[in-house]
Amino acid sequence: MTHPEAAERFTADVDRTTWHDQSLWFIRQKRDRMTYQLPEWEQLRELASQIKEHALSRLDAYLEEFERNAQANGVQVHWAADAQEHNEIVLRIIRQHQAQRIVKSKSMLTEECHLNPFLEQHGIEVVDTDLGERIIQFTNEPPSHIVMPAIHLKKEDVGRIFHEHLGTPEGESDPQRLTETARQHLREKFVAADVAISGVNFAIAETGGFVVCTNEGNADLGVTLAPVHIACMGIEKIIPKLEHLGVFTRLLARSATGQLSTTYTSHFHKARPGQELHIVLVDNGRTTQLGRPDFRNSLKCIRCGACMNTCPVYRRSGGHSYDFTVPGPIGAILSPNIDLKKHSSLPFASTLCGSCSDVCPVKIDIHVQLYKWRQLIGQANAMPAGKRLGMKGLAAVLARPKVYARLGRVARKMLAMTPYALSHNGKLNPWAIARELPEPPKESFRDWYAKTQM
Ligand code: SF4
Repeated sequence: MTHPEAAERFTADVDRTTWHDQSLWFIRQKRDRMTYQLPEWEQLRELASQIKEHALSRLDAYLEEFERNAQANGVQVHWAADAQEHNEIVLRIIRQHQAQRIVKSKSMLTEECHLNPFLEQHGIEVVDTDLGERIIQFTNEPPSHIVMPAIHLKKEDVGRIFHEHLGTPEGESDPQRLTETARQHLREKFVAADVAISGVNFAIAETGGFVVCTNEGNADLGVTLAPVHIACMGIEKIIPKLEHLGVFTRLLARSATGQLSTTYTSHFHKARPGQELHIVLVDNGRTTQLGRPDFRNSLKCIRCGACMNTCPVYRRSGGHSYDFTVPGPIGAILSPNIDLKKHSSLPFASTLCGSCSDVCPVKIDIHVQLYKWRQLIGQANAMPAGKRLGMKGLAAVLARPKVYARLGRVARKMLAMTPYALSHNGKLNPWAIARELPEPPKESFRDWYAKTQM
């Protein structure tokens, strides 16, 4: 399904669309208020961008430095070229410990690798412990946002889901009581877990340590109680030095949810006595993106979600309409790198207003890359046939000023003669569904200019 087709399903529920739009805009405004409090905000963004630029330019060296230091700390480091290899490594570790009960905190990488279905196929139960992730695990849906995975659901929806899966009273939708139920339910899972899987927000080459940021403390509880901790990270998460970390943690929480800092910023260096600590470093297309000069800086992304919260298309079409692990503007520039044909509609799911680039804490030129992908998709003939023909026709007209002027004259006349009911028929003219068609002018700007100004 293309983005417009999937978005149509979401926008069919007008109330939900409006509420989704307003909820994300509220977070965008919170983010703005937080950033205005920091006079050095723009310097921080620039610094973060440059640190990432530098780290990406020596990614191989920093990854090897990280591996050496992590191994010196007693951590077992694994390398995975793709999602399949990542999943097999995780499965191997789980089997080595004959583990059956796995708890997992939020990790977009494991979503990207489809780890849960893979492990379930092998008879292993995985429980997502982030509240939003647990909710959508019950409904068997992917996250619709990288920071707020269940943002597409209202509290009434959550009440229904919990009634079905956790036995809360029918009609219960009080967030406090629902959260308490989830807390009790998850506590049992934490206590019984054999293995805890976490993501990684930042990995520090200099120390071999890594940092996990959460608001619920679920990652900490999971990895503290379980005898085995597996941390899964994309290779772009590396930063060179510990002194760089503060730049990113200051930017991350403010950009993501408008908080001063994430509630838990947990540092891991070595396994505690009696525990095993594994890190899986995953490529899965990242080096291909690194090798594309026009798109390599998309690897600077720290997954804050700010570009989604501000994007008018994301806010009104919902994350599931992107059909990719990372939705929104950043997903629209990462996804064609993985499968150009399948995701060819995503770079067009943008007004190119540039708001995503303006809010991005690491200064990724998102809208420029969206535009670049559009050109490449056009050259690769990867657009849907209708759009391709339309673009070709339009290009032919716009390249010939005389044809353009003549057609303009014809269109003005025809539009003036077309009955209102026909020109505002949504099927014939989808543009007019939500807009008034303007009165056609009597003459073109060129004609007017030639008459009055020459
Ligand atoms: S592209 Fe920028 S704004 Fe979007 S999620 Fe990544 S870091 Fe945040």
